[in-house]
Amino acid sequence: MEQATFPRASAPESLALRELQAAREIAQAFLTADRPTEVYRLALERVSALIGAAFGCVFLRAPGDPDPGLFRVVAAYNWPQAYAVYLSEMRVRSGNGPTGRAVAENRIVEVFDIFADPALEDWWDSARELGFSSSVSLPVTLRGEPIGAITFYFRERDELCEGDRSLLRLVADQLSATAEKAHLIDDLQRANARLREQNVELEARYHEAEEARRLKGEFLANVSHELRTPLTAILGYTYLLREGLSGALADEQAAAVEKIETAGTALMGLINDLLDLTHLRLGRTPAEPEMCDAVALSRAALSTLPPPPPHLEVRTEFPGGPVFVYTDPGQVVRVLRNLLSNAFKFTATGTVTLRVRTVDIGPRGGFDEFREARSSSVVWEVEDTGIGIAEEDQERIFDEFRQVDGSATRRYGGTGLGLALSRGLARQLGGDVTVRSAPGEGSLFTLALPAARRA
Ligand code: ADP
Repeated sequence: MEQATFPRASAPESLALRELQAAREIAQAFLTADRPTEVYRLALERVSALIGAAFGCVFLRAPGDPDPGLFRVVAAYNWPQAYAVYLSEMRVRSGNGPTGRAVAENRIVEVFDIFADPALEDWWDSARELGFSSSVSLPVTLRGEPIGAITFYFRERDELCEGDRSLLRLVADQLSATAEKAHLIDDLQRANARLREQNVELEARYHEAEEARRLKGEFLANVSHELRTPLTAILGYTYLLREGLSGALADEQAAAVEKIETAGTALMGLINDLLDLTHLRLGRTPAEPEMCDAVALSRAALSTLPPPPPHLEVRTEFPGGPVFVYTDPGQVVRVLRNLLSNAFKFTATGTVTLRVRTVDIGPRGGFDEFREARSSSVVWEVEDTGIGIAEEDQERIFDEFRQVDGSATRRYGGTGLGLALSRGLARQLGGDVTVRSAPGEGSLFTLALPAARRA
């Protein structure tokens, strides 16, 4: 017959201490165990020994089970080996038997004598075989909702003292917390697994995109190279025609040849820029740094440019002596040429100024030579009084093929690749190209590079 309470017995002090010890061990297991079953098993083992239970089982709802009213054994203590299979197949339905009722009613259910309760007749055979006659079941809850129960089985009609009962309540709470933790860990593991899968997929997509980018680069490099060869021949023969080496040309013929030459030269410029940019992106234009003089590099860039238009004054503002910079001289000249030729192109009248100066980034003094050198930059400024660039276009012009005004190609010529290439080269050298500008007032393009070798 099921009883509302067990006869009380006062716990000797040593037992209370052992109960406390068990509660501590279970709490410890809760904090450190990797799997919830470890906590369930420890709880069953320790508590069974303390309250004199012969066996114990933890029943929980199977995750993913379509029937939420069925519970199976997730941990057992001292269950006879011969009945192990029976245990693994055992299912308890919510509301049925003491365990099922503990779940359904979300309360402790104590059965003092199984054989005295005809409602438990189904149990009698197994109880006789296994040798138990009473039980106590406690609900295990998840966020307040019962999701299973822990049941202890006793051989004798045991009496539980108040200490035992509070230990049982403590253990039930601990197991509920364990179920909660297991649930959270499950959620976390599922989320982690999803993240891992997404990562693998992203990684694969990244590699595909990288490969596609590389192939596009290879293709562009090959096509550009193949275009350059016949174009060189076309320009060569055009030159011969223009120079009259194949006989004098009539005016009309000379005008046609000039048009071919202009178009051919523009095309050659585009192909060269495209090839350079592609090689830079493919990492085939490594920097070859050496100690240089920034002023000498500026002069070299100016000297290789065609003379500026007649109404344009070109000024230079250089420090008195050399300005040392550890960089790739060819690549710096390339960037300066691009910036200067743009300044010439977009300034009909006025001035273009090329300036060199050093900038101290960090505090000076008190540092060793190496850190002091690292703290300064060399800056080239190309300032013009030309058409200027609107605020919203100032970042876009560094994109490939990007010109402020699409019709600019026709008006000013150019490919829209110069600034993309210049910035790419500058960044490869550890610096950058930036712009400050106002429409109608002019532009200031800055190439800033570290003065000394980067650490
Ligand atoms: P390109 O000059 O061959 O068109 P760039 O990449 O060098 O290509 O420049 C991109 C665009 O940036 C130019 O078409 C122009 O619209 C703008 N730009 C560059 N330099 C200047 C400048 N100094 N003044 C005004 N606009 C400029």
